Amino acid sequence: MTETDLREQICLLAKSLFDRGLTHGSTGNISARTEDGGLLVSPTGTSFGRLDPARLSRFDSAGVLTSGDKPTKEMPLHTAFYDTRSSAGAVVHLHSCHSVAWSMMPNANADNFLPPLTPYAIMKLGKVKLLPFFLPGDPAMGDAVRGLAGKRSAVMLANHGPVVAGKDIEAACNAIEELEETARLAMLLGGTGAKALTETQVRAVVTQFDVEWDA
Ligand SMILES: [Zn+2]
Repeated sequence: MTETDLREQICLLAKSLFDRGLTHGSTGNISARTEDGGLLVSPTGTSFGRLDPARLSRFDSAGVLTSGDKPTKEMPLHTAFYDTRSSAGAVVHLHSCHSVAWSMMPNANADNFLPPLTPYAIMKLGKVKLLPFFLPGDPAMGDAVRGLAGKRSAVMLANHGPVVAGKDIEAACNAIEELEETARLAMLLGGTGAKALTETQVRAVVTQFDVEWDA
């Protein structure tokens, strides 16, 4: 994909997420690897609904900002995924309502944030790690992701929002949508006694689709 196309795809997918209420105001940030090993990143203070392809922050392969506006202050979250997961081609972070709500539940599972409700969430996300609350922009968020040593593609920042890495921008967006939809189901079903997948069913999905699950 040419850089021009990648820039347009980033803005198109961000707008789609914004238009469907998956992040709001000037929240959320998104980045993708360029073919030359650099990065394109959404600028700080921008809205997902109105990203300008020409003004994305552009980093070279040495991590130096070479053009565009100042990047998101949550940059350490993005670089932590790229540095620890060689397969990461894109990273998306949202302030999405239901996953944030689920992170506040008193019995939230820190090692496996989402209940096993549907096979797609398992296939696209593996186990989602719930990280504690950090002040916005705190570089310790990046340190927490680095502490996972590349074993997780998705994390949930408590009282804040999810961060998901994918092989490309489309995969990362699809996966974070799955995270939010699963959290929405979990909130809808909470306390109803709804039947989640059994251990055996989860294991069958993990085996069949070669999911990173036991790290
Ligand atoms: Zn955020």
